[in-house]
Amino acid sequence: MSRRIPKQYTILISCTGRTPIALSFQPKLVIGTVAVAIAIPSLWLGKIFHSYHQENTDLTQQNAALTEELTEEATQIMQKVEVLESELNHLQKRAGMPEASGTPPAETIPQGGLSNRIRPESLLDAAQGRISQLVGSLRVEIEPALEQTLEREAARPKGVPLKGEFNQTSGFGPRRNPFGGGYEFHRGLDFIAAYGSPIYGTAPGVVKFAGSSGGYGNHVIVDHGYGYQTLYAHLSKLGVAAGAKIDRDQIVGYLGNTGRSTGPHLHYSIFYSGEAVDPKGYLD
Ligand SMILES: [Zn+2]
Repeated sequence: MSRRIPKQYTILISCTGRTPIALSFQPKLVIGTVAVAIAIPSLWLGKIFHSYHQENTDLTQQNAALTEELTEEATQIMQKVEVLESELNHLQKRAGMPEASGTPPAETIPQGGLSNRIRPESLLDAAQGRISQLVGSLRVEIEPALEQTLEREAARPKGVPLKGEFNQTSGFGPRRNPFGGGYEFHRGLDFIAAYGSPIYGTAPGVVKFAGSSGGYGNHVIVDHGYGYQTLYAHLSKLGVAAGAKIDRDQIVGYLGNTGRSTGPHLHYSIFYSGEAVDPKGYLD
């Protein structure tokens, strides 16, 4: 048997000397009001909780994304450091330095290489440490060594001391004596070109001798440093004086027929550490 809820209740509040107060209400309405009164704060709290939870989830996601981004950037930086290292290795080789000093010390690179397991901060610290090391090595070791190598290479005679038309007539080594009577060792190359053709120095240096003496006639000797000297002989006219500083391709004299010469030509010698060497390997 179900109980029926009455449609309306009336409460009478009486007080001595005063008119009684009658309060009429419908139970359904009261239940509804109470339900609404409970439901609104519940909904509000739920909303706050949901929004807090959502915010927390968003922050966690943002944090993960940032960490991933940072790791990616740190990995890229480490890769750039590796490229830098390889470039410096090339420079070291170019400078004639042993390759071993370019290997990174083990403690600068975190264990596990460039995997994502490493914290990006560790990667960045390692990259920073390695960059400082590389810069130090570049300034203290590589740069001075490279400079010296380049100077030594610049001092090495290069090319032919003539421009325009010329022919090589005699090579380096034993040859028949052009003045008759057996063989002689020819300590240079002979070139034929028009009389008076300008003769160019084949490397920068300082003129050690410019004058006339012995079989070479008018001749110029240039000291290039690093053990290299060049000789230009049988000149018709000198183009420089002793003690002058010359550049590569600067005129040192003019082709002639002075000294022990059978006709207008240039005799060109290269000396390394005081010994005449075959200029053939220095012509290109
Ligand atoms: Zn000669």
